[in-house]
Amino acid sequence: MSAYMIINSDYAFRAKKRDFTSQHPWCARCGRYVKARARTVDHIIPMSIFTGSPESVSNWQMLCDPCHKHKTAKTDNKIFENNLRFAFINAKSLNMKGSACQV
Ligand SMILES: [Zn+2]
Repeated sequence: MSAYMIINSDYAFRAKKRDFTSQHPWCARCGRYVKARARTVDHIIPMSIFTGSPESVSNWQMLCDPCHKHKTAKTDNKIFENNLRFAFINAKSLNMKGSACQV
């Protein structure tokens, strides 16, 4: 992909987001009308677990800045908790086998 195509596709992506937020001026979480500059396109299912394209509009919602920050913080905590749980389960399963090296 050439630099021109990357810049052009980034421009198209931003234009698509701008169109989306202009069609959805109310925050999907708190329901308030949001000024154009404070509108954020949020991925309903976080991109860390969503298997589709980041440009998939069916996974978009418009959130105001405070709601987006709140959701992001909550999602980050959930990912941290899941990683911790996974590490704990792994450690526990290794202990049950009595050794980490049984190959
Ligand atoms: Zn909001």
